Amino acid sequence: MPLFGRQHVRLPLINWNHVVQRPEARNAPTTRDIDCPHCGEPLRVAIRALNTRCTACYKHLRLEDVVIRGDSPLTRVVTCGSILVEPAARFSGILQGAEVVVAGRVMGTIIGTQRVEVTATGKVAGTIATRHLAADERSLIDGQINLLNPDGTISSVKTGADHAPPKYRAGE
Ligand SMILES: [Zn+2]
Repeated sequence: MPLFGRQHVRLPLINWNHVVQRPEARNAPTTRDIDCPHCGEPLRVAIRALNTRCTACYKHLRLEDVVIRGDSPLTRVVTCGSILVEPAARFSGILQGAEVVVAGRVMGTIIGTQRVEVTATGKVAGTIATRHLAADERSLIDGQINLLNPDGTISSVKTGADHAPPKYRAGE
């Protein structure tokens, strides 16, 4: 018996509206809160919006998540979403996002307005500025870490060959 010969093949009927539910139908949040990276104004934006304009400083804001792959030709990536530097990726320049996860190599400045994570394969030479840093103990960070404390003060730690290794661990 021919499997697909000339006979009409019936595909299972799937209600894709049901399979891929809209966030509204899942009771998932339909907005998210961000801080304008230029002026700090708190903003509420639609969860699927890819860009918007700050209501305070009117600057254009990129909201999408960015993945840095390979030898990146970019030198400056600014988004209110998250940035992932893949394990095989190399980037030189400025990365700014709500959350920046470094699994590859970055030379330059990393600003994570919410958090920065450097995984076991991550290597950073330069400056990290964020509220929360999670660094795997196998990660390499050579440079300066500036942590913004809840009270508004900044703690600076120098790391690298001439300095004590960072004491932060993933999850802290
Ligand atoms: Zn603004």
